[in-house]
Amino acid sequence: MTEYETVIGLECHVELSTATKMFCGCRNTFGAPPNTDVCPVCLGHPGSLPVPNEEAIRRIILIGLALGSDIAPHSVFHRKNYFYPDMPKNYQISQYDLPICVGGHLDVDLSDGSTTRVGITRVHMEEDTGKTQHASASGRIHEAGSALIDFNRAGVPLVECVSEPDIRSPDEAGAYVRELRATLEALDVSDVRMEEGSLRCDANISLRPIGTAALGTKVEIKNMNSIRSLERALHHEIERQTKALDAGEAIAQETRHWDEDSGSTKSMRSKEEAFDYRYFPEPDIPALEPSPAWIEEIRARLPELPRARRERYVTELDLQPEVARVLVADRASCALFEETVTLGSAPAAAANWITQDLAGLINKLGIVPAVLPVTAQHLSDLIGMVADDTISGTGAKQALEEAVTTGDAIADIVKRQGLTQVSDTGALAEIADRVLAANPDAVAQFRGGKENVIGFLVGQVMKESRGSANPKLAQQVLRERLSG
Ligand SMILES: [Zn+2]
Repeated sequence: MTEYETVIGLECHVELSTATKMFCGCRNTFGAPPNTDVCPVCLGHPGSLPVPNEEAIRRIILIGLALGSDIAPHSVFHRKNYFYPDMPKNYQISQYDLPICVGGHLDVDLSDGSTTRVGITRVHMEEDTGKTQHASASGRIHEAGSALIDFNRAGVPLVECVSEPDIRSPDEAGAYVRELRATLEALDVSDVRMEEGSLRCDANISLRPIGTAALGTKVEIKNMNSIRSLERALHHEIERQTKALDAGEAIAQETRHWDEDSGSTKSMRSKEEAFDYRYFPEPDIPALEPSPAWIEEIRARLPELPRARRERYVTELDLQPEVARVLVADRASCALFEETVTLGSAPAAAANWITQDLAGLINKLGIVPAVLPVTAQHLSDLIGMVADDTISGTGAKQALEEAVTTGDAIADIVKRQGLTQVSDTGALAEIADRVLAANPDAVAQFRGGKENVIGFLVGQVMKESRGSANPKLAQQVLRERLSG
């Protein structure tokens, strides 16, 4: 059987989080009541004229600079003509042969510790379409009796970032999207929420026999709304194409739709060629010619990018690479971490609390991180009280759990819940005696040489004291009694 190499290129669409739309003054929001953020321009009324959004252009230049692209001294908007019910003008203002950002690359760290460089072909500016909702229980078009259209999204600034076909596996594709998402998040240009559609990725995938240079026929896959779906869809497509090629069948150049429920891709339509769109220059918008001074001004505001930040956390703050990776993947976590360290907490402790306990609580309680009442001061207090033995690790977790919901000061929570660690030997001795009396089997096992039973007994003391015992002292007191 022939062995194949997988060749993947990704086209990622990013909605910019500007205050207003790309070519009009309508608000750019998500989730507003349907058709409330619309005007003659984004509804495509005859005679209305588009005016490009300067902030959106600034943001795409920032993205291009972060990806190492050349910023074109002269680029042009084109009309991409096609009929779609949720696109009222019957064309989309996009860019064709003269995009604003050309070339570049993104270095992607893989799970095996290696790094791969994925080339960027281009990054161009366009506008989003409206949203069609098919009125059927399943939301599927063929079961719907009617369709509803919401034009709030029509005209939202959309950046398309096209990669070179440098990606060789579904895992690499996932890692690329994660890195791109973290980079866009660091740039603060988009909400980058795949589940809300502010980051969307289409994949081009083909197979070729290992050792051959010519590319196989590529298939485009659409409709993956998470990184997990993207990876699943690619795995499925590799399997499908391998079977077809092994059976001597030709691969059709087409667009396929990923169906999350069945875990398979289905043919949607044969892939359009560029000439199907009858691109021509948008006559209502002059060419974009950003001045070198403006580009330098934007470059000067480039923030630290995720890759550099991960490296700094590992080399300067001694974090484990995996911890640094988790932390840097989320901008809010990073900000909280940096602030906690600035308040004097040990970086490793701060990173642990944020990526483990706090992340766990956010997940468990379904809290939106944006409204999280826990601040750097909370974490810093918590870490300080554990370090000076005021509270135990268990007590600290209890205090954090309350702080996550109430936002109360850690000192107040500790006082209210009685979490101050019992470091008074007399009080501990009393609890230890109760625990030993209640667990004669464990006592016998310990005395019979099973040393590790001590862990169980310390656990019982912690439980009896509702987490307030000092575990080191508890162990000491238990040992004294067991050896006596
Ligand atoms: Zn508008």
